[in-house]
Amino acid sequence: QAKDAGRNTLRFFDPDMQAVISARAEMEADMRLGLQENQFLLYYQPQVNHAGRLIGVEALVRWQHPLRGLVAPAHFIPLAEDTGLILPLGQWVMEAACRQLQLWRTQAHTAQLTIAVNVSALQFHGESFVSDVLATLARTGAPADRLKLELTESLLVKDVDGVIAKMVALKAHGVGFSLDDFGTGYSSLSYLKRLPLDQIKIDQSFVSDALSNPKDAALVRATVAMGRGLGMMVIAEGVETQMQRDFLEGEGCLNFQGYFFGRPVPVAELACFLVAE
Ligand code: C2E
Ligand code: MG
Ligand code: MG
Ligand code: MG
Repeated sequence: QAKDAGRNTLRFFDPDMQAVISARAEMEADMRLGLQENQFLLYYQPQVNHAGRLIGVEALVRWQHPLRGLVAPAHFIPLAEDTGLILPLGQWVMEAACRQLQLWRTQAHTAQLTIAVNVSALQFHGESFVSDVLATLARTGAPADRLKLELTESLLVKDVDGVIAKMVALKAHGVGFSLDDFGTGYSSLSYLKRLPLDQIKIDQSFVSDALSNPKDAALVRATVAMGRGLGMMVIAEGVETQMQRDFLEGEGCLNFQGYFFGRPVPVAELACFLVAE
């Protein structure tokens, strides 16, 4: 009878599903180990103004896995978010970015650069988020007004008043805020009016289609007008060609990020953007 029950139970396990579950469990264990063994690193992607001058960078995490090689965030951030590992990982990213800002503040040609850090919803909604960021800034000595936090619209669907309160608390210290992937989520115009945002990032999906699809072009135009009208800096991401860049500038978007200007690179490779001035 026990054998029958066992056989019945087994029927519920689809072997494919089991493979997925164990792959995820293995990856989670790997990620924990990776955090302990310092296998994560930051790449930095240039952000430039209309004159092509470097104004800042976005920190983009990578995982130097001992067997898989360099792993892109799309392969581990979702699992990190599901398992809560995004909390220690996000803290590591914040710490590493702040250490870099502290190194940059002492040299004239890097002192004005900002670093944008992506923040997950789970991280931002965590009780100690504000105090964690402030403690990291204090511990590293990084200038708060060079740190920019990138939030996504998905983070805003829950507790907008709480989100605003946290933003205001950090902004009081000089920390800036950017709305990432704008137009791909669910933000309403009334939120946009209330949130103390410094910057809005036009999502790369609109940028990549703007030259071929008049509807994307119209959305880019409207986003630029809205962002500027609200007093926000507008930056386009995923700019890959001169034509896209020129179109954006024509629409009044004066800040850019994308492969056309530079891919995400280890910090040492940013040097060429700095001496180019
Ligand atoms: P994101 O914040 O929207 O970052 C922009 C992504 O677009 C980056 O991918 C970047 O490499 C890519 N990109 C930049 N310019 C171009 C371009 O011209 N063409 C194309 N096709 N792609 C471009 P990446 O580094 O793979 O990161 C993917 C996403 O992973 C990020 O999207 C962000 O949502 C997330 N992520 C990365 N680092 C972190 C982190 O430290 N914490 C959290 N929570 N999420 C992160
Ligand atoms: Mg981002
Ligand atoms: Mg983005
Ligand atoms: Mg994105």
